[in-house]
Amino acid sequence: MKINSVCLELEESKSSPGIRVFDIAELSRYDGPGIRTVVYLQGCNAGCEWCHSPHSQSSVSPLMFLSSLCTACHRCVDACKQGVHKFINMKHCIDRSKCIQCGNCIKECPASVSGVSGSALSLPTAYATVDSLWEQIYPYLLLTKKSGGGITLSGGEALLQPQASIELLRRCREAGIHTSVETSGLLPVTIYRNVAPLVDTWMFGMRVITGKNHPRHDDHIRQVMTELAKHKCSILPRIPMVPGFYDCDDVLHSILSLLQQYHIDSIYLNPWNRNFDVNYYNSGIPLKMAVPSAREVATCESKIVSFFTHFKFDLYE
Ligand code: SF4
Ligand code: SF4
Repeated sequence: MKINSVCLELEESKSSPGIRVFDIAELSRYDGPGIRTVVYLQGCNAGCEWCHSPHSQSSVSPLMFLSSLCTACHRCVDACKQGVHKFINMKHCIDRSKCIQCGNCIKECPASVSGVSGSALSLPTAYATVDSLWEQIYPYLLLTKKSGGGITLSGGEALLQPQASIELLRRCREAGIHTSVETSGLLPVTIYRNVAPLVDTWMFGMRVITGKNHPRHDDHIRQVMTELAKHKCSILPRIPMVPGFYDCDDVLHSILSLLQQYHIDSIYLNPWNRNFDVNYYNSGIPLKMAVPSAREVATCESKIVSFFTHFKFDLYE
C-alpha cells in the first residue's frame, strides 16, 4: 500500500456530498471513552491481512450471505435477473461478479429484511447524506453526551471520506459532543492536519506494518503522530495482537520507539478476533492469511503483553 495512492480516492470524495456507511452501533461501550455512537464508514486503504471486516475495504460491500439462515426456498434465484444465485448439487452458489446491488433478492427472501445486517442476504453499504445520518443518530448522541461519551468515526478508514467526516465532527463539536476517530495512520499527513482540530481522541492503529508483503510505514506514522501532537487531542494507540505480524521483535521495537518518542504510556492491546474469518465466508472474499491456532494466538498475546508490561505501559483491552 502506497500512501500516495489514496490521493485519487480522496480527490473523488470531494465531489460527493454523501456518506457511505456499512454499520452503525448506536450505543457501544467500545471505541472510546464512555458510551459511544460508532459510525463505521465504508472503504479502507490499509488492506491488512487480519482485517475481520473485509467487506468494508472496497468502496461498496459485496452481497453478504449467511448460509445458516437460508431455507433453500430458491426465491432469490427467480428474483435475480443477473443470474447471481444458483443451486448446484443442492448447494447455494453466488456469483457476486454479476451482482448490480439492486436488492431484489433480499426483498423476496423470507429470511431477509432490507437494511438488517443479520439477514440471510444483505447489502451492508448504506448511502446517506450527512443531514439524514445526523437526524438518525442525534438522539443517541444526546445520550452519549450525558454519559460522558460521544461519537466515534470508525471503518474501514473513516477519513477516506474526509468531507463527510469533517462535517459530522464539526456538528458534534458545535453540540459539545466528544469526538473520536479511529485511523490506521496511513493517510496523507494533510488529511490529519485538516481533521485534527475537530478530534478529541484518536484511536490510532499503529500500522507500522499492514502485512508481511507490504513495506514498513514507521516513517509515515512518525510524521502523522508529529502532526497530531501539535493539537489538543489525546492519542490512544491500538495494537492488534496478530500472530506472525505484531509479535515479531522488530515490529514491537518499532512501536516502542514511536510510543516513547511521543511520551505515550497507555496502550490498547486488541485481542485476536476469534471470529475473524466469518465475514470472509459471508462475503465470498478469500482469506489472506491462515487462521492461527489457539496455541499461536496464546503465545502471541502472551509475548506482546509481557513486552509492554516490561516497559511499564498501562495496558487496556
Ligand atoms: S442484489 Fe440484485 S443483482 Fe445482486 S444478487 Fe440480489 S437480485 Fe441479484
Ligand atoms: S431466498 Fe433467502 S432463504 Fe430462499 S434460497 Fe435465497 S437466500 Fe435462501
